[in-house]
Amino acid sequence: MTAGTERLRFRDPARGRALTEALAHHARRLGRAPVSVMHVCGSHEQAIARFGLRAAFPDALDVIMGPGCPVCVTDVPEVDEAVALALAGVRVATYGDMLRVPGTSRSLADVRADGARVDVVYGIAQAVELAAATDEPVVFFASGFETTAVATAAVLLAGPPANFAVLSAHKYIPPVMEIVAEMPGGKIEGFLAAGHAATITGWGVFEPFVARHRVPVVVAGFEPLDILAGLVRLVELIASGEPRVDNTFPRCVSRDGNRDAQAALWRVFEPTGGRWRGIAHVPNGNLRLRDEFARWDARRRFDIDCTPLWDHAPAALVQQCQCGDIMAGIASPHDCSLFGAECTPDTPVGACMVSAEGTCKIWHQYGGHPDLRQIRRKVS
Ligand code: SF4
Repeated sequence: MTAGTERLRFRDPARGRALTEALAHHARRLGRAPVSVMHVCGSHEQAIARFGLRAAFPDALDVIMGPGCPVCVTDVPEVDEAVALALAGVRVATYGDMLRVPGTSRSLADVRADGARVDVVYGIAQAVELAAATDEPVVFFASGFETTAVATAAVLLAGPPANFAVLSAHKYIPPVMEIVAEMPGGKIEGFLAAGHAATITGWGVFEPFVARHRVPVVVAGFEPLDILAGLVRLVELIASGEPRVDNTFPRCVSRDGNRDAQAALWRVFEPTGGRWRGIAHVPNGNLRLRDEFARWDARRRFDIDCTPLWDHAPAALVQQCQCGDIMAGIASPHDCSLFGAECTPDTPVGACMVSAEGTCKIWHQYGGHPDLRQIRRKVS
């Protein structure tokens, strides 16, 4: 193949080996162990676990998943609002992952089993179709980071039916990185940023963060080689003491991002403070609808009464869940005594075991730290 027409090769073993050697080289340059870096994206964790990449990381490198699962960080009161709406007879549509996320005492799956109208949809467009086919109110329980919030914004700008409304649990990633960077006793020396979110925001959005916290941020894609390349650059920047933003996903991400998408996002939403489940109150971390779109805002359209849900104490097991510590990067699923025992994908106790992007579910499915030596011993 000639230059310019050569296909990108994402699964090239020789490139993979070269990148893991470069990673080990830069980790050695640090001359100390361990170095902890955080990615803030469930898709990164899925790829790392699915391809067993941790087995190829140097011992000195600890790659931690932070609060990168939007379903997991949807807070209990937000789930309670959706449950209360469904119990009040309002038809609620949401993603399948959101169904079993626990509220104070009940999940949407619980109330659906009792007869409430809860529809699973692939996206907001399908929820709008449901509304268009009926006169009854349909509320879309919207979760997701800035990538998904853009889709919600686009639908509201297009003028959905009057019986449609949005219950926004959308979150915005850059502010929570501030919280993680400022955690007392924090050990994160660099961040791997999600390529899909940066496609919208541009990599320039991380420059003020880097200037404030003096830690590097590298934007990476989702193929195994993308992740390895991003980590090589991140550890290289840490080893050289260069706090800066770098972009190893230039085939999709530019400095300024998608300005049309940003314009749509900020025309419909405004940032507001709110709690992220198990983590903290995150200033400007939640996205709420602007006044101009109040007629589609479920919180302003309906009198949502969650108080009946608070009469029931959460189950004892739920109180042992360590999702918050896991998403803050200070614990791993193996630190939770319920992991793989009382808590499995079939019997999830916490949100991290519910979502396909939750660390506990991913580690349960693929394992967290595969030991290649053991695997080789089993094979031979
Ligand atoms: Fe929570 Fe289950 Fe993960 Fe433990 S294993 S932290 S209970 S989701």
